[in-house]
Amino acid sequence: MKYDLIVIGGGPAGMMAAGRAAELGAHVLLLEKRDRTGIKLSITGKGRCNITNAEFNERALVSKYGKNGKFLFSAFHAFGPQDVIDFFNRHGVLTKVERGNRVFPSNDRSHDVIDALLGYLKEHRVSVRTGAAVKRLNFSRKAIQCVVLSNGEELRAEQYVICTGGKAHPETGSTGDAYGWLQHIGHTITPPEPALTPVNVREAWVKELEGLSLKNVTVSVLLAGKRVASEFGEALFTDTGLSGPVVLTLSTAIGQALKKGMVTLNVDFKPALSLEELDARIQKDFSEFSNKAFKNSLHLLLPKTAIPIVVRLCGIDPEKKVHEITREERLRISHRVKNFTLTVHSLAGFDRAIVTSGGVSLREVDPRTMHSKVVSNLLLAGEVLDVVGPTGGFNLQMCWSTGYCAGSHIGQLQ
Ligand SMILES: Cc1cc2nc3c(=O)[nH]c(=O)nc-3n(C[C@H](O)[C@H](O)[C@H](O)COP(=O)(O)OP(=O)(O)OC[C@H]3O[C@@H](n4cnc5c(N)ncnc54)[C@H](O)[C@@H]3O)c2cc1C
Repeated sequence: MKYDLIVIGGGPAGMMAAGRAAELGAHVLLLEKRDRTGIKLSITGKGRCNITNAEFNERALVSKYGKNGKFLFSAFHAFGPQDVIDFFNRHGVLTKVERGNRVFPSNDRSHDVIDALLGYLKEHRVSVRTGAAVKRLNFSRKAIQCVVLSNGEELRAEQYVICTGGKAHPETGSTGDAYGWLQHIGHTITPPEPALTPVNVREAWVKELEGLSLKNVTVSVLLAGKRVASEFGEALFTDTGLSGPVVLTLSTAIGQALKKGMVTLNVDFKPALSLEELDARIQKDFSEFSNKAFKNSLHLLLPKTAIPIVVRLCGIDPEKKVHEITREERLRISHRVKNFTLTVHSLAGFDRAIVTSGGVSLREVDPRTMHSKVVSNLLLAGEVLDVVGPTGGFNLQMCWSTGYCAGSHIGQLQ
């Protein structure tokens, strides 16, 4: 049996490409090596799936993806955030917009997003084979002749779309299998690196803060004591360091700084207050709690789990009565609350990264169709491409758009 199209990889890009091509009349086979499609999709947005970002200005949207973002202009024009929202609404997933224009299913269920895509595939009679790991591509005369599965089976199509993703969270099936095949058939691969990663720090006490989620904080990156980047928003303490949107966004700057020297992170718990305003606030709390022990006087100012650590870092006896605290000691507290410093050890690896930077060189892909300029019957979509966005729904948007363009192109050939 020869298909019009074989799509390799049942993630968001692959499901969209397969469904769209079939919607336009192509006879499509989707191959997924794991026992079900969309495993990574199920864990996106902490199981809530931030499907896109309601940034409807194409220029502003493209600018989010850095220097490689220009590649996405045509794809976003063809299938942008509003189209994604309309698509999911049409397929039974109602959506809501949260802070930072992040779009989620109204019921916060990533599984509904997967079900909608499976419904789309079924509606257009895409053959889906799970547990089907592609081992290699047979290539000759500048074209793919067939794919070979790990059990030796050979499958043929007129065209092939590779949507195998990157290497982040490999337990989901994204293990970077395609990079080797693609290099072998003449594509250039920008070396894959973990991106949007949590940070490991040297301070062992960070473990005591594990699970502490901070809203409205500013995190700054300091290289040899000099600020090189900073972001305002949400951060999260992990067992080995820091994560959360602010830290993931800063991870590229942290990685670059680490190559040059010693890097520290400063968490400002109260970015809306100047040092003087914070000191005034502490004085007010202290006048209320003047007979309490110092360790019991910070609960209006700081999250409960952070208090013992801040108390320790201030070097003030935790049992000391608040009215005995000197001015110099009080100023030490306000300084610490605005400069809660951690020393970066390293960035987390692929096992904890959200996405992979690097991938197929964009110079070798037609941005309107996702068609390879190197191999006559190959298209590429999703994270396997060398383009990555920040947190906020931008990475899935890129997958939907590039998958849609690839599928549309195949559909138009029918
Ligand atoms: C924890 C986490 C949370 C995230 N949250 C968000 C979010 O809320 N919003 C957002 O925009 N982005 C988020 N992302 C990023 C987003 O999930 C990815 O960018 C996206 O899944 C990439 O889609 P893809 O289709 O290119 O690849 P993938 O989703 O990686 O899918 C690739 C598929 O190909 C299959 N495959 C691989 N090799 C083979 C082979 N040899 N044969 C057959 N099949 C193969 C894999 O098993 C996999 O199912 C998150 C990522 C992580 C890790």
